[in-house]
Amino acid sequence: MTTATELPAPGPAAPGAGDQAPITMLNPDFPFSYDHYLAHPDGLGAIPAGLHGTEVAVVGAGLSGLVAAYELMKLGLRPVLYEADQIGGRLRTASFPSAAGVVADLGGMRFPVSGKAFYHYVELLGLETEEFPNPLAAATSSTVIELAGQKHYARTPADLPPFFREVADAWKAAVNDGAQFAEMQDAIRARDTARIKELWNALLPLLDEQTFYGFIAGSDSFKQAGFAHREAFGQVGFGTGGWDTDFPNSILEILRVVYTDADDAHRLIAGGAQRLPEALWQHAPSGMVHWPEGTSLASLHAGAPRGAVDRIARDGTGDFRIRERWGREAAYPAVITTCQSWLLSTRIHTEETLFPAELWTAIERSHYMQSSKTFVMVDRPFWKDIDPATGREVMSMTLTDRLNRATYLLDNGPDQPAVILLSYTWNDDALKWLSLDADQRVELMLHSLEQIYPDVDIAGHIVGQPITVSWEADPNFMGAFKANLPGQYRYQQRLFSHFKQDRLPEGQRGIFLAGDDVSFTAGWAEGAVTTGLNAVWGVVNHLGGSAAAGNPGPGDVLDELGPIPLD
Ligand SMILES: Cc1cc2nc3c(=O)[nH]c(=O)nc-3n(C[C@H](O)[C@H](O)[C@H](O)COP(=O)(O)OP(=O)(O)OC[C@H]3O[C@@H](n4cnc5c(N)ncnc54)[C@H](O)[C@@H]3O)c2cc1C
Repeated sequence: MTTATELPAPGPAAPGAGDQAPITMLNPDFPFSYDHYLAHPDGLGAIPAGLHGTEVAVVGAGLSGLVAAYELMKLGLRPVLYEADQIGGRLRTASFPSAAGVVADLGGMRFPVSGKAFYHYVELLGLETEEFPNPLAAATSSTVIELAGQKHYARTPADLPPFFREVADAWKAAVNDGAQFAEMQDAIRARDTARIKELWNALLPLLDEQTFYGFIAGSDSFKQAGFAHREAFGQVGFGTGGWDTDFPNSILEILRVVYTDADDAHRLIAGGAQRLPEALWQHAPSGMVHWPEGTSLASLHAGAPRGAVDRIARDGTGDFRIRERWGREAAYPAVITTCQSWLLSTRIHTEETLFPAELWTAIERSHYMQSSKTFVMVDRPFWKDIDPATGREVMSMTLTDRLNRATYLLDNGPDQPAVILLSYTWNDDALKWLSLDADQRVELMLHSLEQIYPDVDIAGHIVGQPITVSWEADPNFMGAFKANLPGQYRYQQRLFSHFKQDRLPEGQRGIFLAGDDVSFTAGWAEGAVTTGLNAVWGVVNHLGGSAAAGNPGPGDVLDELGPIPLD
C-alpha cells in the first residue's frame, strides 16, 4: 500500500518489495489466478466440434466485450459484437485536433502492474507502457500539495512536513487494526487462497455495512490523530491522491483496492489506452480452432461491429433475439452483455424474464460514481522550467482541496507539445463541472491554479481546444464506474456469480453479464478483463463444452473460491 506520502514501487519489474512475491489483483471475493489460467498451454477449453462457427452475440465493444469476443473466436465460435459508439468504450483516447499524436485518456489511463490479466493482453499485443506520473511517483519530478491555502513542494516524500507522515501512519494502522491488511497482503503474495478466503469471509459481515469514512473515523489511530488528519487523508489519500469522494462508499470497495495494490505502481499505455481494445479488434491470433490464420475480430465483422442494441428477448425457438437501434434482428444461442448493466433496463428493452428478480434488483440499485476530466494541450512541458528565485520547478503535479482536486502533467518529451490534465474529479466534485462547457471549466480550473502558482502564465502556454468529458452525461454509460454503498455486497455477489448458471431455470440460462461493473473491482480495467473471461467460461459450458482438464476455469472453482452469500 502506497500513500501519497511515500514513493510507489518503480515499474512492472519490481511490483513487490525486494525479493517478495508480487502482489496480484487476486481479489479476495474470488481469488482465482486469471493470469495462470490465461497462460496455461491447454487454453481456455473446448466446445463440441459440431458447434464451431456458431454465432454468439457480444453487446459492447469495450475491453470486456473485446476480450470475450477474442477468446470465443480462438475457441472456434463466431462472436458478433454490437457497439453503440466507439470500439474501446471507457478506454477512450482523444487526440487534440491540431496535433494528432498528442492524446488524452478520457477514461482508464493508469493501470496497476498487479493487474496481471490486463497485462497479459498488453504484452500479447506488444503495447509499450510507461510509468504514470502519479503524486510523488518516480516519474513525477515534483509534487505540490496545497491544502487550506498552504502549499508544500516535494520531490520526494521526505520533503513533506511530518504531518503527512502521521496521516499515512494513521491510515496504515487503521487498515492493519481493522482489516488485517498485512496478513491479507501476505496471503495474496503467496496466492494462499484458503487464507485469503478465511480472512475475507470473516471481515465481510463485519464491514459490509460500514462506510469508508465510518471506518477511518472509528479507527483508534485516526481518533487519536484527530479531525485534521482525517480531513487531510481525504484530500491527499493514498497512491493516486484524495479519495474523500469515496467516503460514503462501502469500506469493502476501498479494501479491495489497497489489498491488491490497485492504487500503486501505475503505468500508462504509450499512444493512449484505447490502443489496447483497438489492438484486440485487429489482432489475428495463431493456432485458433476452426478459423484460418489471419482471422481477426475485424475481419469476422467486415471492419465494423454491428450497431447499438435496442432489444434483447427470447424468440419462439429458445434463442435470444437481438434487435438493433435501426431495426435489424438476429438470433443467437448465447449472449454476453458488457455495457454498464443498468443500461439493460434504462436503454435496452430487455425481456424481464431473462433474469431472476433479485438480479434485477442488483442491476437497478447499484451505485455508480460520476467522473469528469478536462485536458489542455500546451506548447511544451514548461512546468520543468526552474524558478531562479526558489530553484524549484515552476509547476508540479498538484493535489489541492480547490475545485480541480488533482492536476496531472503529461510530458511527451522536451520541446514537444505536452498535456495537462487540469482536473480529474469524482462524484460531488465531478458534478460541480457537469453544467459547464469546456471553456468555462478551463477558466475556473486556471483560476484555481493561479492561486497556487501566481507567477506562472499557464494560459499563455495553451494551444488548441480543450478536451473535457463527464461520463454521467453520456447515454451509453450514464456514469463512470460502479462503487458499492454500504449493504450492497449482496448485489455484487449476485451480479458476479451469475455466470455460473447450473442453479438457474432453463429459461434464464444463456445470457451472461460481464464488464467492469459486474466485477468486484469496478473502476479498474482488470475487472473488465476477468469478468469477460468468466462469461467465456459460461458460454462454453452453456454450449456443451468445458474447460481443459488441467486448466479449470473460473466457473469450475466458483463454489470453492467464490463470494460467499451473507444470509
Ligand atoms: C473516468 C474513468 C477513469 C478510469 N480510470 C481507470 C484507470 O486509471 N485504470 C483502470 O484500470 N481503469 C480505469 N477505469 C475503468 C476502465 O476504464 C473500465 O474498467 C473499462 O474500460 C471498462 O470496460 P468494459 O468493457 O467493462 O465497459 P465499457 O468500456 O463501458 O464498454 C461497454 C461498451 O458498451 C457500449 N454500449 C452501451 N450501450 C450499448 C448498446 N445499447 N448497444 C451496444 N453497445 C452498447 C458502450 O458504448 C461501450 O463501448 C476508468 C474509467 C473511467 C470512466
